[in-house]
Amino acid sequence: MNNWTKPRTYTVLLIHGLLICICMICCMNEKKISADTEKVEWGYETENGPDVWGKLSKEYILCAEGRHQSPIDLVNPTRVKFSPIIYEYPLTTGIDIRNTGHTIEVACPEGSWIQVDDTRHPLLQFHFHAPSEHTVAGKQFDMEMHLVHKSEEGSLAVVGLLIEQGSPNAAFDSVWSHLPTVPGEARRVEESTLDLNRMLSPNGQITDASPHSLPNTYRYDGSLTTPPCSEDVKWFVLTTPVEMSAAQIDAFKAIIHDNNRPVQPLNGRELLTDVEAKE
Ligand SMILES: [Zn+2]
Repeated sequence: MNNWTKPRTYTVLLIHGLLICICMICCMNEKKISADTEKVEWGYETENGPDVWGKLSKEYILCAEGRHQSPIDLVNPTRVKFSPIIYEYPLTTGIDIRNTGHTIEVACPEGSWIQVDDTRHPLLQFHFHAPSEHTVAGKQFDMEMHLVHKSEEGSLAVVGLLIEQGSPNAAFDSVWSHLPTVPGEARRVEESTLDLNRMLSPNGQITDASPHSLPNTYRYDGSLTTPPCSEDVKWFVLTTPVEMSAAQIDAFKAIIHDNNRPVQPLNGRELLTDVEAKE
């Protein structure tokens, strides 16, 4: 008797057919997923977060393979006297605040700059991370502010300010009163005056006379902490954090949170500070 006529054989054939169909559907889905992956925008979730940034786009390859990446753990710095960084941050009115979906970013009008090693770097924008990206001897802070500067030649210098929970900080009100809550939302604030000197001064480090130089800075060569993770970024993280109230920190975190890249290996780089050694 021919085997094919047996009902059991039909069942086997049917199952085979079903399996082939399932396989085809799976393969199609897999293709669809990998095609979608190429378009996935970077972010901070498992599927698009720091661990996979380098795989999301060829342009982000440094996020995976760069050797001079940021942020880092600020620990065991070499104490040296480096030429001070000159800050020129005049009072400005009329600011643009934008929720990029990754952070809250404030575009700065022209006129603010820092001078590093005789090169002037105009301030482009500042933005925030919660919690902090840099850590100090393993300690993470509640937030971190980054002021991004770019010279005419295109070299980048970022000033980092650590923020910890404490007293309310009115210096940030001009931004905090107008935080855009929805990704893509932008607000133009005409009436607010931005006082970056006050924002950076935990205890009156900067006086009204300008330009100023700030002592007590960590300095190292790193990268952008977001894709494309470009390197050759000069980093200056102020050693003294500023305080903000829990309510202020929560107001930010209610909109953006966990937008911090984990610390990266130092890979033999020098971490410097101008903090004087304690006798
Ligand atoms: Zn940043």
